[in-house]
Amino acid sequence: MTVTPINVLLFGAGGRMGRHLARLVHEAGHRCLEVEARQDPDVRGALDHLLPQASLVLDFSSPEGTTLLLEALLARPVPCVIGTTGLTKTHHEALDVLARQVPLICASNFSVGLNLLLQLTAQAATALGPASFDVEIVEAHHRHKKDAPSGSAQGLVASVQAGRAAGLGQVHADVADPVMPVLFHGPGMTDGRPAGAIGVAAVRGGDVVGEHTVFFLGEGERVELSHRATDRVIFANGAWRAALWLLGRSPGRYTMKNVLGL
Ligand code: NAD
Repeated sequence: MTVTPINVLLFGAGGRMGRHLARLVHEAGHRCLEVEARQDPDVRGALDHLLPQASLVLDFSSPEGTTLLLEALLARPVPCVIGTTGLTKTHHEALDVLARQVPLICASNFSVGLNLLLQLTAQAATALGPASFDVEIVEAHHRHKKDAPSGSAQGLVASVQAGRAAGLGQVHADVADPVMPVLFHGPGMTDGRPAGAIGVAAVRGGDVVGEHTVFFLGEGERVELSHRATDRVIFANGAWRAALWLLGRSPGRYTMKNVLGL
């Protein structure tokens, strides 16, 4: 099948994710417009020059980078896939405004398996409830990761909350900006565990690509749901799959659930 080439703006093109994505874009027969702070200190100038030529934007940079990108996109909207993690409420508000004009997806984890884990976690939380099972989420990432707990761990917290609410018969919205967990485990944490609390612990070190386990700890039994990423190419593959799914859609804020039909 002949592909009509499009211009894909890669923001954070020199990074680990950026390099995987550049390969996927080229392999699919499209063109990359690269923006990388280490090569061009005038990032905003580069964006203003390249955005009018782009049909799609892929962002795997830094929260500061995403701030600049969103400012430029609000002035010149283009469909986009945002993978940068550690984003704030301000970023999410800007994304909501942008989504009125173009289709976009912002996800803290583009792996197919992790998105399935989000669903399974909600299902388990509905079935097990908050009274008899304590929930603890443990995530591990490489030593370079700058945010903690990971966006995916926060997504898992939201899944537990949504699953529990569904189990209690409460109406709940799809939580895009999750309420932060009650407990963060770290050095110096000595207080006991309040009933119904969701605990989150982050481990950082070495070259761990990304691991998440949700423990449902009861009296005399436990359920553990785990996902382990062993190659970061899965995130690039998922982001590229999301990008292709997004092309031609109506404006709106979509999720990986939509892309995967979960
Ligand atoms: P990286 O440090 O290897 O790459 C980031 C790149 O972005 C670097 O080359 C850096 O110079 C560039 N950059 C930073 N600020 C910029 C700016 N203002 N303008 C232009 N370029 C800028 O990191 P990485 O492992 O490629 O990850 C990038 C981001 O993606 C991180 O936030 C990471 O947590 C996130 N990530 C998300 C997923 C997911 O599935 N959503 C998966 C992996 C990584």
